[in-house]
Amino acid sequence: MDIAKNIEIIKEKIKAAAIDVGRNPAEIKLVAVTKTKPAEMIEEALKNGVEIIGENKVQEAYEKIPQLRGKFKEFHFIGHLQSNKINKLLELEPSLIHSIDNIKTAEKLNNALKKRNKIQNILVQVNTSGEESKFGIKPNETYEICKKLSEFSNLKILGLMTIGKLTDNKKEIEKCFETLQFLFNDLKSEYKDFKYLSMGMSGDFEIAIKYGANMVRIGSAIFGRRN
Ligand SMILES: *Cc1c(COP(=O)(O)O)cnc(C)c1O
Repeated sequence: MDIAKNIEIIKEKIKAAAIDVGRNPAEIKLVAVTKTKPAEMIEEALKNGVEIIGENKVQEAYEKIPQLRGKFKEFHFIGHLQSNKINKLLELEPSLIHSIDNIKTAEKLNNALKKRNKIQNILVQVNTSGEESKFGIKPNETYEICKKLSEFSNLKILGLMTIGKLTDNKKEIEKCFETLQFLFNDLKSEYKDFKYLSMGMSGDFEIAIKYGANMVRIGSAIFGRRN
């Protein structure tokens, strides 16, 4: 497993995909998804061009992030947030939470932030594939939920996140990303803080870039398959 080489290849592919559709590659941020991988492998990535790391489970992050502190630029939380894990997550000071998917948890998060006197950057997770197994709000709820979230004093919504459909059918994957891009562009005029469109993983980031992704979340293509 050559992590440095994998990062180099991914960065080249991001660049090529951006140029292919007339976009500036520099505007696309790479989030290295480090879930299930040990701290030593993550350090290897951080020495070789990775600046942002993403974890999807609070407990796992709680065990790894403190050891890596000072070595990464940003830690992002990308998984489903359970309300009983909010305080534990906030202790880790995530730069961005990609996965806000309901008002109830958001309200609890806001209350916890108030106590800490902190503002938290968040993205709203939209379920664009309609797959039951996936978290996220329905696309047609996005306007209403963004409006409610924007009323919480200590949350700052920076954009939207989605997970593309797990399929070999490129058209269906494109439909997911096209949906999120549409919502993002539509909301951007109203929400001045909107700047991140988080979509694309190891198998589909090049398609996501075609539809405007400026934050891609890549795990297995950097660190190898997970068990
Ligand atoms: C695991 C995960 C990824 C990365 O998936 P890969 O296919 O390994 O690149 C991206 N986003 C989220 C939300 C994830 O849970």
